[in-house]
Amino acid sequence: MTEKNNSQDARITFQELKSLLKAIFVNNRTSSETADILAENCAACERDGVLSHGIFRVPGYVDSLRSGWVNGLTVPDVARLGPSFIRIDARNGFAQRALASADPLIRRTVREAGIAIVATRNSHHFSALWPDVEPFALAGYMAITAVNGLANVVPHGGRQAVYGTNPIAFAVPVYNAQPLVIDQATSVMANGEVRLHALANNPVPDGTGVDRDGNPTTDPHAILAGGALNTFGGYKGSSIALFVEILAGAVTGGQFSFENDFTGFPGAQTPKAGQLLIVIDPNWGGSTNFESRLALLCAQLADAGQDRLPGARRFTNRAAAEQFGIPIAMDELQRLRTLASKG
Ligand code: NDP
Repeated sequence: MTEKNNSQDARITFQELKSLLKAIFVNNRTSSETADILAENCAACERDGVLSHGIFRVPGYVDSLRSGWVNGLTVPDVARLGPSFIRIDARNGFAQRALASADPLIRRTVREAGIAIVATRNSHHFSALWPDVEPFALAGYMAITAVNGLANVVPHGGRQAVYGTNPIAFAVPVYNAQPLVIDQATSVMANGEVRLHALANNPVPDGTGVDRDGNPTTDPHAILAGGALNTFGGYKGSSIALFVEILAGAVTGGQFSFENDFTGFPGAQTPKAGQLLIVIDPNWGGSTNFESRLALLCAQLADAGQDRLPGARRFTNRAAAEQFGIPIAMDELQRLRTLASKG
């Protein structure tokens, strides 16, 4: 790692950051295996510039683990119910650990059946979704996922939060290029982004959310203090959030966002969230040159004037981090080192 003496900023390698994060998780009631998965996930978000789900999230993870709301020591229960359906009970652990446990079975299922539907319940999701789908695109598959969360989004025309920020992600391979990866909240803004605005005391754009009385506000503090976010795209986006709520909260046998109840777990922050993941082998659809077809579509978008594809910013950040290291503020680094050394 390089440190600049008179500067606030340092650079850290992915492996160094991952090791620090793993030590922090292990120090906070997490098994080595789960800590490794969470650390990889969190370090990857920081490396790719998804700062709303990188090291910014560490205090939330730690507080949730210490509160006993989420179980970092649990082992998920994975069951294949038929040719293509996999059901996971995360046993109150993290969704990423559940997915990692099922990964070999998911890949085998897609090879055998052309599709794997993975329904995870009793799980917590506190991160970005792209790490859950991108690896399948890198293996030549198409992956779609939906996650619900903590009720902090009002339905279109409503005054009371019902949905989580209910993100969706999609990844697909492209010939001779990085995969195309779309990963977005169905709220106007992800909750982590609102919190970053609040930390910086920056207003959020008009239309982002409402205060505790249901009145429109651009104050991120008001949105966080009993207010709520709006869904993107008016009633159409609201219906997509509803769709996600059903996929992640009901098809999985999980719970709805509004059923999250942290009472009795002071400090808890990780929402209990179901996750539906669908992985498809696109070659079963009859196209013999699927990835080339995707390359043609992407080229058409560029010709039409789209200046970049979803996911491209992350790949650019990743390449820069691999070359120069991941930028990190010195006080952040010190904070992580202190947490990591508290064995
Ligand atoms: P953004 O609005 O920043 O980005 C959404 C998607 O649009 C990304 O795929 C992004 O690609 C792409 N994109 C952004 N700008 C452009 C552009 N100009 N042209 C083409 N594509 C573009 O994401 P959100 O704020 O909605 O979500 C941020 C993160 O928060 C996500 O990773 C999401 O999974 C996570 N999240 C997690 C939740 C949870 O409960 N676990 C809840 C809600 C959100 P790129 O990444 O390359 O910028």
